[in-house]
Amino acid sequence: MDTDIDDTCKAKDEEKKWKQILVIMVGAPGSGKSTFCEHVMRSSARPWARICQDTINKGKSGTKVQCLTSASSALKKGKSVFLDRCNLEREQRTDFVKLGGPEVDVHAVVLDLPAKLCISRSVKRIEHEGNLQGGKAAAVVNRMLQKKELPKLSEGFSRITLCQNENDVQAALDTYSGLGPLDTLPHGSFGQKNPDAKIQLGIMKFLKKVDAPSNTGSTASSTQDPVPPQITEEKNSCLEGQEITSLLSDAAGEEVKGTENPEVASVNQNGSSSDVPTLAFPSLSTSDFQFNNEKASDVIIEKVEEFVNKLGNARLVLVDLTQGSKILSLVRAKAAQKHINPKKFFTFVGDITRLYTGGGLCCNVIANAANWRLKPGGGGVNAAIFSAAGPALEVATAERAKSLYPGNSVIVPLPSTSPLCGREGVTHVIHVLGPNMNPRRPNCLDGDYVKGCEILRKAYTSLFEGFLSIVRSQEKLSKGCNEDIRLEPSVSQDHSEDVHGNYISTGDKIKRDGGHEYEQSKKCKTQNEVGTDINLSRAANLSADNEKIGVSTSKAWGSWAQALYRTAMYPERHKDDLLEISDDVVVLNDLYPKAQKHILVLSRFDGLDRLADVRNEHLQILQTMHAVGMKWAEKFLHEDASLAFRLGYHSAPSMRQLHLHVISQDFNSKHLKNKKHWNSFNTAFFCDSVDVLEEISNHGKATLKDYDSLLSMELRCHRCRSAHPSIPRLKSHISSCRAPFPSSLLENGRLMLAPRNTAQP
Ligand code: AMP
Repeated sequence: MDTDIDDTCKAKDEEKKWKQILVIMVGAPGSGKSTFCEHVMRSSARPWARICQDTINKGKSGTKVQCLTSASSALKKGKSVFLDRCNLEREQRTDFVKLGGPEVDVHAVVLDLPAKLCISRSVKRIEHEGNLQGGKAAAVVNRMLQKKELPKLSEGFSRITLCQNENDVQAALDTYSGLGPLDTLPHGSFGQKNPDAKIQLGIMKFLKKVDAPSNTGSTASSTQDPVPPQITEEKNSCLEGQEITSLLSDAAGEEVKGTENPEVASVNQNGSSSDVPTLAFPSLSTSDFQFNNEKASDVIIEKVEEFVNKLGNARLVLVDLTQGSKILSLVRAKAAQKHINPKKFFTFVGDITRLYTGGGLCCNVIANAANWRLKPGGGGVNAAIFSAAGPALEVATAERAKSLYPGNSVIVPLPSTSPLCGREGVTHVIHVLGPNMNPRRPNCLDGDYVKGCEILRKAYTSLFEGFLSIVRSQEKLSKGCNEDIRLEPSVSQDHSEDVHGNYISTGDKIKRDGGHEYEQSKKCKTQNEVGTDINLSRAANLSADNEKIGVSTSKAWGSWAQALYRTAMYPERHKDDLLEISDDVVVLNDLYPKAQKHILVLSRFDGLDRLADVRNEHLQILQTMHAVGMKWAEKFLHEDASLAFRLGYHSAPSMRQLHLHVISQDFNSKHLKNKKHWNSFNTAFFCDSVDVLEEISNHGKATLKDYDSLLSMELRCHRCRSAHPSIPRLKSHISSCRAPFPSSLLENGRLMLAPRNTAQP
């Protein structure tokens, strides 16, 4: 293990004479943090420990908490410490800065080198400790750079050294390498050439697209140029897709799979790409059905152009297995010629059944180039999708259609039991059948490309319309479920027919309904027709109804609602965002905290989506979640005794995967915006963990209340119970209300206060 905290530093106990240093390294992967630390440690006369999150867990990657513990233990042993993790965001640094004190100076060494350099280094490297290398590194580095917040002295650093080029890095190396055990370094900020500059000019030169206003006359080519005010660091310290592509091919000098440029562009554009509805589709008919590539690419471009403006924030991705794919390069070239927005439509090299796990591309819908019988078999995409999705897809398909005519498609909601759903985040498969020019396959058109192109157009139309109908129905379902999820109204009204009434865009041979998920969509339609918003509580009630009538209670979770599930199942992929990982739980900050401190404890048990699924046999899982939640609340209370905490579950959660909210009772957050947010934490909609534990052990399940009425209740202060007409008025009231918490909260340990806090906060 890199920390390798040995006991050689015994000198520290007896009258330690030197001041220790905790150096928090700040920099993207590939910026040279580890090399920097190792170089200093080789040449410095001072005892150092290097804490590296990529190797802290017996040589494997670990958690922030492990880093904190190791750093604290090394400091106790008298060592100075390099904290070798990216630390690009202020929040990621905060807990480490707190390790400083009268005997420990906290420094930041910022390796703020050009994104181009970091990416090309990350892509090229091999045997990286954290396995961040090759094509996937580009997207990760770029995404991280987007969030970069340079450290400030006000965070608690006594010294910040900013390195923006190799000379700066060398100077910092010399400074730290030359530090003897008794030496100290002056406090302050060093290396900031132009403290007012908001951008890295090196990067600006690299980026071709500089949207400086013409009247400033600034070209960003000289380090003396004034910085255009609207160009922010965030926007320019990462790269656009095109630049990444050229970097990837420059750097790798080989085929780069699963990392074609526009995915990165779309990550840039959309923040978390897993929230963006995405259809991945193979080229139809060009493989086994031997359709001419030139003609097929024209049709693809024509249809993409037609649909691209209807997509809202959704996107289309043409996928093929190899970089050398003819159809991919034709389409790519034609899309560029036509200036099709690369954030809305792009090509991607990868296996359509492993887009997320193999290439980091999150697609909630995939298209299958199906056969007319809608059965597994043959080769290519059809065989791959049926095999990866497991028998669940075959069953779900058969419930909807028995066969397909060329030019048509059928949408199949993927049961959550399918590995494609759990592993890749795919919620729907759209089977689509294109025209056939292969004499050895059925319905051969014998080279009739007039008819062939017509059918191919029809097939893509049907496919894209089907995708838009899914997007629309998921938008509706998400609306009201989680106001934080951004889904633009995207589809023109004439498609709305498809949304509820006709999920299937093909002929009479196809059944209109079937599995539980589709059932739910149909019920949602009923609600919507009478003018009510489909919302979280509604969805939950529908499930409850289903339960009563013996229908499976599986809920149709949209792609956006699967983020926590993916985190729980693949925590190692999200480790920079996690506070704790264990075999049973994952702890993370709520992405849209509704209070000063708001974290989520996720169960890692696959199949336990929400409170309604919990039964007696899950009691131990809930107890573990409760204990972990308490531990974190205690930690927060230790840091700030004025806080108070509640631990609980939402009766009907918006996000899949059982999660416990640990939330401070100040509700001081810009994310708390509406009545639903407030009532979801301050009515019986919020089920206190202690009560849930009791109910499960006594009755084998939790009591779930009438959600609708709870979420629409009037706004009342959670302390004095006074009523308020709006959220701003309520927020202004609670910021000063010091009334004691109601006795119901003080009973049974529902409210957690600091131990020393005898009076209520
Ligand atoms: P609920 O499902 O109603 O219990 O609440 C889900 C919680 O997850 C909300 O508090 C959201 O702010 C939060 N949330 C939504 N997306 C994410 C995400 N990707 N990571 C962490 N928290 C999230």
